[in-house]
Amino acid sequence: MNEPVRDTRAISCADDYDPNSMPVGKAREVIARFLQPVTAAERVNVRAALGRILAEDVVSPLNVPAHDNSAMDGYAVRHADLKGDGDVTLKVAGSSFAGAPYRGAVKSGECVRIMTGGVVPQGADTIVMQEHVKAAGDKVAIAPGHKKGQNLRRAGEDLKIGQVALKRGLALRPAEIGLISSLGIGEVAVYRKLRVAFFSTGDELVSIGSQPKEGQIFDSNRYTIHGMLTRLGCEVIDMGVVRDDPRLLERAFGEAASSADVVITSGGVSVGEADFVKDLLNKLGEVVFWKIAMKPGRPLAYGKIGPAHFFGLPGNPVSVMVTFYQFVRDALLVLSGRDPVPPLPTFKVPCTSSLKKAPGRTEFQRGILSQDAAGNWSARVTGEQGSGILRSMSEANCFIILPTEQGNVTPGTLVEVQVLEGLV
Ligand code: AMP
Ligand code: MG
Repeated sequence: MNEPVRDTRAISCADDYDPNSMPVGKAREVIARFLQPVTAAERVNVRAALGRILAEDVVSPLNVPAHDNSAMDGYAVRHADLKGDGDVTLKVAGSSFAGAPYRGAVKSGECVRIMTGGVVPQGADTIVMQEHVKAAGDKVAIAPGHKKGQNLRRAGEDLKIGQVALKRGLALRPAEIGLISSLGIGEVAVYRKLRVAFFSTGDELVSIGSQPKEGQIFDSNRYTIHGMLTRLGCEVIDMGVVRDDPRLLERAFGEAASSADVVITSGGVSVGEADFVKDLLNKLGEVVFWKIAMKPGRPLAYGKIGPAHFFGLPGNPVSVMVTFYQFVRDALLVLSGRDPVPPLPTFKVPCTSSLKKAPGRTEFQRGILSQDAAGNWSARVTGEQGSGILRSMSEANCFIILPTEQGNVTPGTLVEVQVLEGLV
């Protein structure tokens, strides 16, 4: 992790970018320099650890598997008993089933019936699949051609005692929850949840339950932000709607910054409004206002209010979601203790729509990724792309990311897509 930079105004002046149009990658880089992950941890039951981030390495207290065991249903034999040039007949001395091992050693001329997962009995060193023997009563005939040690899973092959099974900084998915349980571990240390306070700004906004008067609209940003934060595993502090009034805003910023690790607002950062919020935030902390070379989501503010990180997102509902996913998400994961934060995969597919695009900024168009009858994937846009049209996000299952230098897109061109849905 880089040294945190104390003064955001210093970087806004010192770095070699045009403050009127900050490239997306540069903005991410600058934000990344300030992020100091939480360190406090708590111990939770393994089931409750789903979605949380490991605060310590999980070290295996056992060998996995614990014993040499069979990978097949068949017979455990001594390889030295087998012949290179003809069948050998062995006596079946007993059985080793999963959970019911053979007690004793396999002697020369003997074998043991064994099922998948059964402990390999002493003396035996090779498993012959049942399909490869001729069984008759308590005798089996085995043809030549079996390799010593075949079909056997060795003790500790998966994990050895003392080996790190899972690393600190990992987000726990069902696979990890299962793995921890397979080690007999019932509790793990996870980082405390990141506390994120958020509010909407705007005189025109009303919350659900109130009757909008003429010119007023329902606040939706607070609800999408609530959803996005909850999905990321944050503890959320919903501070409601704050009017465009300096006194009320100052109070809200102060309250949010003293109760949370991160403060997120929407609205009030575009030109005109920004001057007023700018003065306020310069008084309360160190905040830079960026015009990002992107669409949607051009205005964005980032900085510190006391110890809290601040993200001032634009007001338009689609811009809120795009800037959240492109800047805030990764930052919150870093702050939550995720290490490393894996980049979201993107890949290229043909675009079936024709897209209007001006070079000079990165665009995040809302797309639908779909498969044709032959199984080939392609992407198209979700119709109207206005930054106020939240339906474009709802219909989308991907972002179509058009890089800075890209111009108009003709159908059939390969475009980069970022999938919105995750399997696990
Ligand atoms: P602003 O950045 O405050 O100028 O807002 C830009 C546009 O987004 C305006 O049309 C606002 O009405 C709209 N907007 C701002 N905040 C919200 C919100 N919380 N929910 C829905 N729309 C909003
Ligand atoms: Mg506003």
